[in-house]
Amino acid sequence: METLQDKVAVVTGGGSGIGRATALELARRGAAIVIAEIDPDRAASAAEEIRDGGGRSISFACDVADEGTFEALKDAALERFGRVDIVMNNVGVLTRGLPEHLPLAEWQRIIDINLMSYVRSTIAFLPPLLDQGSGHIVNTASFAGLFTYSYDRLPYAVSKAGVIQLSEGLRLYLAPRGIGVTVLCPGPVITNIIDSLPASFGPEPEMRGPGEQFALLTPDEVGEQVVEAVLDDTFMVYTHPDVRDVLVRRASDWNTFIDEKARAL
Ligand code: NAD
Repeated sequence: METLQDKVAVVTGGGSGIGRATALELARRGAAIVIAEIDPDRAASAAEEIRDGGGRSISFACDVADEGTFEALKDAALERFGRVDIVMNNVGVLTRGLPEHLPLAEWQRIIDINLMSYVRSTIAFLPPLLDQGSGHIVNTASFAGLFTYSYDRLPYAVSKAGVIQLSEGLRLYLAPRGIGVTVLCPGPVITNIIDSLPASFGPEPEMRGPGEQFALLTPDEVGEQVVEAVLDDTFMVYTHPDVRDVLVRRASDWNTFIDEKARAL
């Protein structure tokens, strides 16, 4: 996408953290923004901050897990701004529990919010993007979907691996049709995501991160990376480029990689 001037972006989970920072950066570069967010106060405050900065924005309070949310979101964006160019699917929530303690309903809840909402968004927004023959989809995944560093939140990791596959397939399909796809794979970023953690199912598992070599980033740093990726039509965004070293090691000898991880846990 050559410019963001007068483009229209929808950002889910746009009231906090990475979504909010990306929405603000998109707005600074001239895009109108629909903040889709379950927390109405966060949604309203993000939209207000954009308008205070001279941008155009509306808030849309919604739960991405609800049937019909994305059709209504699309209608609201089209009604207010007349078009949609960028869709950032960004809601992700955590869980915790050892594999034998996580109930099926919790698996279903996490996969529904973190993965199936992206599918519902795709079904709603793809027809107008295809009709337009232009646009860009950003799907937020995670290092958790790129490689396995723990077992304390398996539904989260599984949902994020699914987001990466969904995005890669869409990239293949949509590139020749003029629509870009970016998958954002963040490592550690200082946000409010811990608020989404429910009480542990069963005994509290030790929560493990992807590795101490990955420094905590600010959402603003990630927002800028996303906006550059939309402008450059970059598919994969690793917030911490050195994650490649881990991926190369795994791809070179997956058996040794996972055995070493298991011994270290
Ligand atoms: P955040 O909690 O700060 O922001 C997420 C926003 O989504 C919140 O404002 C929340 O209210 C909203 N939300 C939650 N459930 C919703 C629902 N059902 N419908 C609509 N909105 C809902 O978290 P964040 O860290 O900015 O997370 C953004 C994305 O980044 C997530 O997909 C997350 O998995 C991913 N991610 C974050 C990190 C990190 O370290 N923060 C690392 C890897 C991936």
